[in-house]
Amino acid sequence: MRIGIPREIKPQENRVSTVPMTVAELIRRGHEVFVERDAGAGCGFFDEDYEAAGASILPDADAVFHHTQMIIKVKEPQPVEIERLKPEHLLFTYLHLAADKTLTERLVGTGCTAVAYETVSVNGKLPMLEPMSEVAGRMSVIYGSAMLAKHHEGSGVLIPGVPGVPAGKVMVIGGGTAGLNAAKIALGLGAEVTILDVSTERLRYLDIALPGVRTLYSTPEHINSLLPDTDLVIGAVLVPGAAAPKLIRREHLKRMKPGSVVVDIAVDQGGCCETTRPTTHQDPVYLEEGIVHYCVANMPGAYARTSTEALSNATRPWTLLLADLGVAGACGRRVELWNGINCTGGKLTCAPVAEAHGMQ
Ligand code: NAD
Repeated sequence: MRIGIPREIKPQENRVSTVPMTVAELIRRGHEVFVERDAGAGCGFFDEDYEAAGASILPDADAVFHHTQMIIKVKEPQPVEIERLKPEHLLFTYLHLAADKTLTERLVGTGCTAVAYETVSVNGKLPMLEPMSEVAGRMSVIYGSAMLAKHHEGSGVLIPGVPGVPAGKVMVIGGGTAGLNAAKIALGLGAEVTILDVSTERLRYLDIALPGVRTLYSTPEHINSLLPDTDLVIGAVLVPGAAAPKLIRREHLKRMKPGSVVVDIAVDQGGCCETTRPTTHQDPVYLEEGIVHYCVANMPGAYARTSTEALSNATRPWTLLLADLGVAGACGRRVELWNGINCTGGKLTCAPVAEAHGMQ
């Protein structure tokens, strides 16, 4: 198959879909790979690395889309990319179509077959979404700790403490992938960590997986009782297919010490604080009720190198399968891929997306 790797053009997106190591494997299997000039430059994978792996470098995205059958990307196609898509294209990328009806209609209208990373689920897990939650979870504590500094309008608490001065207190709400990774890093920094979840099974697992962490069943009462004594709150809740529940209300924030920090990772689902609103890497924080809020919706973009490698590890087996067997053959081999197909032949094929837009 002829495979294209365009440069990502969404603002602040420095990741690339496919690392040179995977390109080399595709070429070993007899495929041809065309990479847009500087596609990986934002995360330290350079044209010469792709050439060494056997890819051809093309000068622009028009050429990449024109020459190839399968397009591998990171972010949903931008308007100019939609115009380049043809019915014979197989697009493999994050799509998040439920959030954007216009994009859905335009993508379906191209007639291409689009397989979304985030709708492929294996045993109830989303293997191509998980690495980004790992990155965001680990990042949340690094950023949150930094935002506690006075020059960020924080309270001035150093999370690890020092001999003779106690460590800071971290509350992680939601103990899934992002929450577990946040708690792991917070423990590593020496913080006193409490993690809350509504799944007792998950709390049991966290209790064993993270020695030293305190687990607590998640209720608004438990959360609010901890707030006055918490320096850093990490919001990492997910209710699949629904907006995040507002577990912290504005009036509850008033009970926290001024300059304490909330990192609401769940901002992409509306956030678990009433006062959460999306921010960007350029302007990541704001104050509400004296509490520093960090609510960046695409956190992994900040660490494009690590995120690219993690994403590429997760997508690699599916990329190879789709390239080797085509969509129909790949779905025959791994039935989980069926759910990945969001549209094909001018039809919307993903039920949750159709439901979200009333397009059934
Ligand atoms: P996950 O499904 O692995 O974990 C979510 C956890 O929340 C589950 O354990 C669930 O039991 C728990 N939960 C549900 N309701 C709860 C409640 N009321 N109180 C406490 N816990 C509750 O999800 P994840 O992969 O860890 O993702 C968490 C959130 O982070 C999602 O909204 C995801 O979209 C978001 N995310 C954001 C970024 C970003 O850049 N901001 C990056 C990655 C993920």
